[in-house]
Amino acid sequence: MSNYPHLFQPLRAGRLTLKNRIIMGSMHTRLEAEPDGSARAAAFYAERARGGAALIVTGGYSPDAHGLLEADAGALDHPHKVAEHRVVTDAVHTAGGLICLQILHAGRYAKHDNPVGASDIASPISRRKPRALSTAEVGQTVASFAACAALAREAGYDGVEIMGSEGYLISQFTALRTNNRSDRYGGPLENRLRFPLEIVRATRARVGADFLILFRMSALDLVEGGLNAEETLQLARGLEAAGVDVLDTGIGWHEARVPTIAYMVPRAAWRDATARIKSAVSIPVVATNRINTPELAEELLRDGVADLVSLARPLLADAAFALKAEQGRAAEINTCVACNQGCLDYLFRNKVASCMVNPRACSETLYPEGKARRAKRVAVVGAGAAGLACAITAFERGHSVTLYEAQEDIGGQLNLAKQVPGKEFAETLRYFRARLGNSSVRLKAGHRADADELARGAYDAVVLASGVRPRLPDIPGIDHPKVLRYDEVLSGAKVPGARVAIIGAGGIGYDVAEYLSEPRAEAKAAGFLENWGVDPQGMGDGGLAAPKPEQSPRAIVMLQRRHTPPGKTLGATTGWALRMTLARRKVPVLSSVSYQRIDDAGLYIEHEGQVKLLEVDHVVLCAGQEPVNELRAELAAKGIDAVAIGGAERAEEIDALRAIEQGMKVAYAL
Ligand code: NAP
Repeated sequence: MSNYPHLFQPLRAGRLTLKNRIIMGSMHTRLEAEPDGSARAAAFYAERARGGAALIVTGGYSPDAHGLLEADAGALDHPHKVAEHRVVTDAVHTAGGLICLQILHAGRYAKHDNPVGASDIASPISRRKPRALSTAEVGQTVASFAACAALAREAGYDGVEIMGSEGYLISQFTALRTNNRSDRYGGPLENRLRFPLEIVRATRARVGADFLILFRMSALDLVEGGLNAEETLQLARGLEAAGVDVLDTGIGWHEARVPTIAYMVPRAAWRDATARIKSAVSIPVVATNRINTPELAEELLRDGVADLVSLARPLLADAAFALKAEQGRAAEINTCVACNQGCLDYLFRNKVASCMVNPRACSETLYPEGKARRAKRVAVVGAGAAGLACAITAFERGHSVTLYEAQEDIGGQLNLAKQVPGKEFAETLRYFRARLGNSSVRLKAGHRADADELARGAYDAVVLASGVRPRLPDIPGIDHPKVLRYDEVLSGAKVPGARVAIIGAGGIGYDVAEYLSEPRAEAKAAGFLENWGVDPQGMGDGGLAAPKPEQSPRAIVMLQRRHTPPGKTLGATTGWALRMTLARRKVPVLSSVSYQRIDDAGLYIEHEGQVKLLEVDHVVLCAGQEPVNELRAELAAKGIDAVAIGGAERAEEIDALRAIEQGMKVAYAL
């Protein structure tokens, strides 16, 4: 008997039978822009099919040149492109999976020089003003969607997903915010829904009854001038009648000022919006966003919120999510922590997607599973993120590994990061523990390895992953009892008072500010949706309501010396929400400050040409880190050339993303 009886129940979808309720949701990978993109995509998707996902949806492909997300994005708009897709569909079918192509027309979100839209209204997140499609061009675009689906069928796909959410072209037609047309595609709701419904009808007519059509609709627009819940349900019913087999859901347009998938969004936060759609139609409905454990997926299915769950980032993090859940090995799942650092933030920087907790994602052909040619004896010093990733990967590559950790427990800085509200690094630690437990890595915890011991060990390779120590800035009074380090605060060893100044507004400064400004559970007036201004019933304009921001229990001020706008180093897709949270909690950031001294009265700074006293109870140091790598020179003196990784190699900009990636790569290079 499965631990997840609903999750592993087959489901009829159109003419197909899905073996379980897990769909791999669409994610852009940027592999299509790589020279060996088809082979890498084939390996990436095939691994997810072998890992048990019932159905995979590819990243978005445009049906025509206008709809490209960016100049080198993928389009399936010509028969000569069918062959490159065959490589992918054949690989997935050989692996026992099913795969649908997502058809995505970017509309005004296109990052190229010739964007089109329902109307010529620019988006707040793009500088380019779109050209409004003429009525004849709308008809041609409908035909392009259908033609793209026909090519997908020729390429061996089992179906298509029509991308109608997140603010792309189809959303731009349905919402008054972006549609001021005066033809039959503009004006009353019935007209604005015409475009998606025509696309579905034309596609169905072109591909026949036995080809799966999913439509990803916006369960909540979360923008002013977007659809409300009632209008959304009208669209859902229309789509069912037009011939859609499965209704997938998306939450919020990309320009929405409400976080929808990042770590600060509670798990399954959007379940009510999905449940509303399910209650309006009889075809299967898919729940999405922040569903990252099999328990949660099972709960949503059991409670009748949806018929299927879409896991996108969670299957980047772990290709075998479904298999592990089915086999009772859920503790071994590498859980997506919704950091967005390796996936969306990479895509924003025009890099191929990866995953912070699984750097092999989208690079399966570069880091194939299997053993190294020669087994070596390896010592890894430090069991933080970098050391754990290195030691475990090295073991799995066939090496004999000893892992030294000075603390009693593993985890290093992950033990601090997991204290930050919303940051699920406890899952990452649980996963590392499970992998370590299944390995024969010799863990020597509570044991500080020295150069003599490492030399006696006669290892073939020594990897130093000894991490970082907090930087103590050179400020008079730095040893005053008012001064606390970030590690003392996040570990709970020291609790700051009601008035706090934070020195340093980098990633850790922001994390500490969030931690210290988070209202205590008993003082929380409202939940996530109310804080961010989401109408729980979805009946406000675009599903929005007036936000009810949280109040900080402390008066906090953040400080930095640099003159640039604060928070510039935060993640592209999460930083804005963190900055907004702190602004709403009235936590200011002062730039261009210099630190004078700290005494019983507080912290003296020079700011805007004046010396000011910040009368605070505590000053929390978040002024960066320095590497801990003294062993390297000691080993060098004994003729041992140790490789330093993670913060021990370079403390600047060290985070779990670089630590885990470097740990894995060094293990492959052994
Ligand atoms: P950081 O981002 O480099 O910030 C260090 C801060 O300390 C800066 O604000 C810097 O600002 C200040 N500083 C540096 N030297 C100082 C000195 N001598 N005296 C006073 N202030 C000084 O480093 P971090 O905050 O320690 O974070 C470490 C890494 O982890 C970073 O790469 C960060 O992005 C990453 N991280 C990421 C996340 C995430 O969510 N993605 C969260 C936490 C950490 P000024 O020099 O202008 O004063």
